Amino acid sequence: MNAEIMAVGTELLLGDIVNTNAQYLAKELALLGIGIYRQTTVGDNEERLKKALSEALKESEIIITTGGLGPTPDDITKEVSGMVLGKELILHEPSYEVILSYFKHNDRAMANGNQKQAMFPEGSIVLDNPNGTAPGCIIPGENNRFIINLPGPPKEMIPMFENKVKPFLMQFMDHTIISKTLRCIGLGEWDMATRVKDLLDESKNPTVAPYAKDGEAILRITAKAATEAEARAMIAPVEEEIRNRIGEYIYGTDEDTLQDVIGRELVEHDRSIAIAESVTGGMIASRLLGYEGGMSKVLAETFVTYSNESKVKYLGVKEETLKSHGAVSEETCREMAEGLHERTGAEICLVTTGIAGPTGGTEEKPVGLVYIGLGVKGQVEVHKRYFTGGREKIRVRATIASLDILRR
Ligand code: ATP
Ligand code: MG
Repeated sequence: MNAEIMAVGTELLLGDIVNTNAQYLAKELALLGIGIYRQTTVGDNEERLKKALSEALKESEIIITTGGLGPTPDDITKEVSGMVLGKELILHEPSYEVILSYFKHNDRAMANGNQKQAMFPEGSIVLDNPNGTAPGCIIPGENNRFIINLPGPPKEMIPMFENKVKPFLMQFMDHTIISKTLRCIGLGEWDMATRVKDLLDESKNPTVAPYAKDGEAILRITAKAATEAEARAMIAPVEEEIRNRIGEYIYGTDEDTLQDVIGRELVEHDRSIAIAESVTGGMIASRLLGYEGGMSKVLAETFVTYSNESKVKYLGVKEETLKSHGAVSEETCREMAEGLHERTGAEICLVTTGIAGPTGGTEEKPVGLVYIGLGVKGQVEVHKRYFTGGREKIRVRATIASLDILRR
């Protein structure tokens, strides 16, 4: 079975945005064992898109387009896909209802073009889009050929491919493909290269592939076998080998998030936590609140103590400590954690203080220096870390490192 990946959008053609959708889809299709015949990029132009689709249909059974499903007149992918397969567009009521209710809740007059988003070529399988307003579709053509239209934004396209298109394609396969994702924190490129690189390089079936995302490293083990049970049995020993080598960095699997893993642990064991953030300014608390399982039961109090005054006022840090050691110091960090414990009584106290830059660094205390204090029942441990990158990156990295320290 062959496939063509077609990215639609003048922005892509002119290089204003990078075609990451094609990269993602190519990797995924290859993993499914589908041959990639060609990748194309076409502007938002009816004639050229029509020509590209007609040519693609000559060579490939599956054509996956991304982009051009929006409400504006230059979004024409569905219309043209229907045209080349000889299918009229018809209104898909359930999608129309969803769009109507979206606009009702958002109190905006429904733009004319939005009805267009609920129109699909006759016979389409409509793929709803929980992450945006434009649904995608699978349009069957003659001789077991399909044009699959997906939205352009990767945040919408990737889940739609993963949850809807992949299962659809799997039904044509005589094998099954199962993946397991191991999520790691603090695993630098060096560790990856020295401790697991041979597994990545030599892996065939199962394959092991690394991805980096928002300061996390992800290893995905993928096995191809006749049955799901067989594929899982192939994954298990590889997972064990990886855990033997880098187990301390792995915080979760598959859909786990750091906040879920920590939140679950706190709630399950009813351990109270208080947080005081200087350099991370609320980002740790915000991440933890992403856990849905009852953080209000355990998250006692949180403070953003960015100024020196607030560190004194809310946490009881001594003025003298601030004067002699500075706000970014082991001493201040320790007093923040101790004060937080004293004032809140929370079992676990997490605090941060650091220099996010771009100014304010010195030779002795450079930009990126962050102290993270973790107190458990008043016993405080201070971790000193250096992060690189701009202000935002340093703050995000400090947040992730704090959560990682908390997790352990
Ligand atoms: P919308 O409803 O947002 O208009 P759409 O399906 O019409 O969605 P486009 O208008 O083509 O999609 O693209 C929307 C945005 O999605 C682009 O501005 C770009 O940020 C992103 N995008 C589109 N195509 C790609 C691609 N091939 N790779 C990466 N990002 C893309
Ligand atoms: Mg658009």
